[in-house]
Amino acid sequence: MAAPLTFAQVKQAKTFAWNANGYLYVDGRVLVHIQPVNDPTHLFRVSSLRDSDEVLPDEWYHLPDCTCAFCRG
Ligand SMILES: [Zn+2]
Repeated sequence: MAAPLTFAQVKQAKTFAWNANGYLYVDGRVLVHIQPVNDPTHLFRVSSLRDSDEVLPDEWYHLPDCTCAFCRG
């Protein structure tokens, strides 16, 4: 797997990305994974953190076949 990307790179690449802490980057928005107790449904809600880069962890990944400048090296 490619080296993790920073959130700044994710925003620059403008393509789908995921973060092991339960975040997704989709269409310019950050989604947060939520799983209600006793409910197997996996839900995502729009994060209110999307404008605060500092609080988002910098370990993002693109899909394996991504062809953005960062993944191609
Ligand atoms: Zn990429």
